[in-house]
Amino acid sequence: MGTAVIKDIPNAKDFFDSGIELFDFAWDIVAELITNLFVAEREFEVDVKDVSEEYWAASKRRLTTALAMTQQGVEFIMKGKIAEISPYLLLAESALRWPSPYDGHELTFSEFKMVDAQDLVRIHDTVQDRPLPSDFVDRSNAMRTKRNRIAHSIDKELQVHTTEVIETILFFYKALFPEENWAKTRATFIRNYPDATLSGGEYSTNDVCRELESVLALLPPAAVETYFGISKKQYLYLCPTCLADGGHHVDFDHKLAALRPKGPTSTTLYCPVCDREYAVARRDCDQEGCPGNVLAADEEPRCLTCGRWQETEL
Ligand SMILES: [Zn+2]
Ligand SMILES: [Zn+2]
Repeated sequence: MGTAVIKDIPNAKDFFDSGIELFDFAWDIVAELITNLFVAEREFEVDVKDVSEEYWAASKRRLTTALAMTQQGVEFIMKGKIAEISPYLLLAESALRWPSPYDGHELTFSEFKMVDAQDLVRIHDTVQDRPLPSDFVDRSNAMRTKRNRIAHSIDKELQVHTTEVIETILFFYKALFPEENWAKTRATFIRNYPDATLSGGEYSTNDVCRELESVLALLPPAAVETYFGISKKQYLYLCPTCLADGGHHVDFDHKLAALRPKGPTSTTLYCPVCDREYAVARRDCDQEGCPGNVLAADEEPRCLTCGRWQETEL
């Protein structure tokens, strides 16, 4: 008679790490398309209408790949949420059909059949305190049909699809990690990419901010508010930390931080990349031609509209 102990029992963190990494891969693919187009339009004045057919054909494949990765990521993370309660809840079938513990060989978790992906929502909502959002199942189904639609779509619809894929990733990340902020998670990934470490990480902040700026330009205002906590209708400012961290051999002009609350006397600025608030001073910028009146509240104050240092202390 064997004394079986199951080996390789997965834990929640392993599932979460794999799932979030897939989200990042998916995001990376789509964000690159968006950023390249944004930069082409803004800096090289390329008209989106003139973008070649080959470009869109390649984009199509990237978008469907990104959706497949997102879907896989969602499944991993849901398994993680269930494994938080107990990994054994992931076992399908009745005990009679499990591999025998009496054969004298070690059992590994992977020998057991796992529950079907379609059952994960029901298991999750049965055992976890906080149920998934009510539109979670609909959005999951929509993700599957969207892959088909993109594969058969014509060029001019692809920009719409690109936005939808980005929104899909954001929706599922927020649904699964309501307390987290995707911009910050993404920033952590970019700062740890191999090419970021090559340049000493100096330009990672520029990359993060340029990417987020491009994505925000594309997203509808409601999505920007829901997923990034800032309003597209508000004037946005430089973030004191992102500005200080960014590489300055090029101009750092990425404005992503918003006053909270909005208003002429507000002294709190929120940056979605840092996912934190900063105290700011309200005084007119003393540099010529700048209408700014939001300054980083530091010993050596800097204007968060034009980025220039101030000649007079606060
Ligand atoms: Zn920041
Ligand atoms: Zn200024």
